[in-house]
Amino acid sequence: MTQATVDRHVVIVGASLAGTRTAQGLRALGHTGPVTLIGAEAELPYDRPPLSKHLLKGEWSESSVDGIRLATRAELEELGVELRLGSAAVGLDAGARLVRLADDTTVPYDVLVIATGAAARPSPWLPPSGVHQLRTLEDARAIAARLALGEPVVVVGGGFIGTEIAAAARAHGCEVTVVDPVPEPMARLVGPEIAGSLVALHQRNGARTRFGVGVVGIEGKAGDLTVELDNGERIFASTAVVGIGSVPSTDWLTASGLTLDNGVVTDHFLRAIGAEDVYAIGDVARWPHPGRGVGVRAEHWTNAGDQARYVAAAVTQGVEAGYEPTDYVWSDQYDWKVNAFGWRDAAGSSVVIGDLDVDGRAAVVHTDADGALSGAVTVNWVRALNQARRLLAAGASAEAVVDAIGQLP
Ligand SMILES: Cc1cc2nc3c(=O)[nH]c(=O)nc-3n(C[C@H](O)[C@H](O)[C@H](O)COP(=O)(O)OP(=O)(O)OC[C@H]3O[C@@H](n4cnc5c(N)ncnc54)[C@H](O)[C@@H]3O)c2cc1C
Repeated sequence: MTQATVDRHVVIVGASLAGTRTAQGLRALGHTGPVTLIGAEAELPYDRPPLSKHLLKGEWSESSVDGIRLATRAELEELGVELRLGSAAVGLDAGARLVRLADDTTVPYDVLVIATGAAARPSPWLPPSGVHQLRTLEDARAIAARLALGEPVVVVGGGFIGTEIAAAARAHGCEVTVVDPVPEPMARLVGPEIAGSLVALHQRNGARTRFGVGVVGIEGKAGDLTVELDNGERIFASTAVVGIGSVPSTDWLTASGLTLDNGVVTDHFLRAIGAEDVYAIGDVARWPHPGRGVGVRAEHWTNAGDQARYVAAAVTQGVEAGYEPTDYVWSDQYDWKVNAFGWRDAAGSSVVIGDLDVDGRAAVVHTDADGALSGAVTVNWVRALNQARRLLAAGASAEAVVDAIGQLP
């Protein structure tokens, strides 16, 4: 059971999904003490998934930006949340319970929630202009302006974000090439069973793919870039977008005494190891996954919100059980909807139901090394997803899930 009271000063560092949902969750659960929300970005909190989806695809407008805010200033004021935006935390003295900010002020806390998320893994190729990365609203504004030109784009990285950017670029009529050193990068998203169909989807929509080939350099400037591949090919582009993963934002914690290992390491209750009354949640946290038996740093929207709600409950009411993840993620690829929950065990096996190329929908059901159901991926088949999630929660076998999905109309 975690210690709980409703009157302590809770300081939340990171004013995005995990941080904002924590502040809102605390008040919803009757927290009466001060709540301070500190964010490096000057922007009011906003949601990131739309950045690579409809926001990049359509005409950029500031009213569409209003639609992705996680809270308005008035709402946060009404909740009595003190906002410190545009002020990055640069240090933590866990012994004295103080967070130090870039403007050299310090903020004392009784409880600290670390929600500093992650940043785009920096591009190794940095010509003077023309290379972009996507993590923030500011990044998205800049990329949207480039895509609106309709000029050739190279996307480096065939993960979720890279492929969504490629689809957005096609929607603007840009010639697009997606480059990734992995021969079938979509396998990371949907598994090898149906990855080929996703590659074909991109090709059908006019994106060129260079998979199994690495980038060795990007030279030139915006409007006139040359992307050189390790097979000797040179691709000319107006804009390059590099989406090669992310790194957790833990620099400010280096001297804090917290255990850092590709994220802030926590226990099952999301309490950071190495200090009292410090929690870490969202993309920055590495927590022990009860099902997988290993430390996991999930970079998924659902996880950030779920962990925020869990910590709000831990602080105000106390919790008896450790955090149980939902393990759910989605991606939009052109008009296809990819959904996944649970996980894929390298030592397990997978069964495919349906044929994406024929039926336009498919599900892949995963079992772990012991043959137990561990997760599923569906493409354009929400009923199959819901069925599998329901049966997993009810403790059903993988065979039962495969049968049930197979009988869906
Ligand atoms: C373009 C894009 C598309 C995505 N699409 C999907 C999707 O389709 N499905 C899905 O499940 N997930 C998606 N995600 C992932 C999802 O958005 C993240 O899992 C979620 O944003 C994590 O929330 P967070 O609050 O933990 O971290 P973040 O959203 O990374 O926020 C952390 C915040 O902390 C701030 N910060 C960092 N360091 C400091 C500091 N030292 N001091 C103060 N503040 C600091 C940052 O500026 C940032 O505002 C997408 C992410 C991106 C970038």
